[in-house]
Amino acid sequence: MIMAPDVLVVGGGIIGIATALELVKFGYSVTVLERDKCGQGASWAAAGMLAPQAEQLQGELLALGIKSRSMYPQWIKEIQEITGLSCGYWCCGILVPCFTPPSNGGSSDYHDRSQLLQRIPELGEKVVGGMWYPDDGQVDNRQLMTNLVLAARSRGVKIMEGVNVTGFDIKNDRLVGISTSQGALQAGHYLLATGAWSRELLPVQVQPRKGQMLSFYDPDRRLKQVVYAPGAYIVPRQNGTIVLGATVEDVGFLPGMTAGGVASLLSNAIGVVPYLADLSIQSTWWGFRPHAPAELPYLGQTKYTNLTIGTGHYRNGILWAPITAHLLTQWILGNHQDPIVSQFRSLLTMAMV
Ligand SMILES: Cc1cc2nc3c(=O)[nH]c(=O)nc-3n(C[C@H](O)[C@H](O)[C@H](O)COP(=O)(O)OP(=O)(O)OC[C@H]3O[C@@H](n4cnc5c(N)ncnc54)[C@H](O)[C@@H]3O)c2cc1C
Repeated sequence: MIMAPDVLVVGGGIIGIATALELVKFGYSVTVLERDKCGQGASWAAAGMLAPQAEQLQGELLALGIKSRSMYPQWIKEIQEITGLSCGYWCCGILVPCFTPPSNGGSSDYHDRSQLLQRIPELGEKVVGGMWYPDDGQVDNRQLMTNLVLAARSRGVKIMEGVNVTGFDIKNDRLVGISTSQGALQAGHYLLATGAWSRELLPVQVQPRKGQMLSFYDPDRRLKQVVYAPGAYIVPRQNGTIVLGATVEDVGFLPGMTAGGVASLLSNAIGVVPYLADLSIQSTWWGFRPHAPAELPYLGQTKYTNLTIGTGHYRNGILWAPITAHLLTQWILGNHQDPIVSQFRSLLTMAMV
């Protein structure tokens, strides 16, 4: 029997752990329940791009992404100060290559082929130019997850792995407890952060979107920027690994790599950066993005007064992690006057599930 914490977080991915770490800063006692091992879901499978511009986010989602991207350096610094370990954060810039010249001369982000070759000499011949976003970048999401869990534990978050949450115990408009594989648990407040599996516990319209990925190893570390081509993004890590992603498939939770998935990733990537064809393949994997209607994450309020939700981050959960942790924490604290909460208030009150 554990003492009832102030907040029980369900789900130990980047959203659950980042928010738990933020909550303890304000003196809350927090327990995270994870049915597997923390950080093995989408947060492990991701490419780690921090790419609000390359992803062509629009409107409020772009604002959310740009704000979160600007929070990254300080957020990473805090995690690295607690753990003493690097998270592989790298503001390396992202190129979106074009295969035909833009009709109207392009925006100020457009660079022609000769300008691009100075920065990325490895580009294939079919690239005539591209959009260059110097402020987009990447983080090594696996290192980040390992370090977030370490940081959260060392700041007093209690993390219980191998605990499956199976249901909510509801009385009127409040949760009075949750059922788990290890018995019933209670808390003052609850946070649902269960990614692509969220529909098992609440009637949210979150569906899995599978992504297949693979990685190469380049001992010469030639590529130093992310290349975000149609049908394939190429993400070089500082240690020589190159991550290649990703398919987007509506196949439920069907596991496994497919020949067609790998073939399309390889041919799209090699067309843009031909030398990849000579590299050895390191590993392959897949994961499930939590897709929500209109790609809008479920953030904040639910119809139960002591249940907050943070799910549906789809393709941008690594990018949106710092701002999600901030928004959900301030929401749970009841600090609705916080400037960032005010800015994104409409997103926070949309999810009345
Ligand atoms: C192939 C791929 C590439 C991606 N690339 C990028 C990228 O480049 N940049 C970017 O920003 N984002 C990217 N994403 C998206 C990003 O990974 C996700 O949006 C983000 O990881 C979601 O985090 P989460 O914590 O909500 O979910 P998850 O990391 O999936 O964590 C949810 C956790 O909840 C646990 N859980 C579920 N149900 C229960 C239950 N009933 N009881 C207990 N525990 C439970 C699960 O075991 C899991 O550990 C990518 C995703 C994929 C799949």
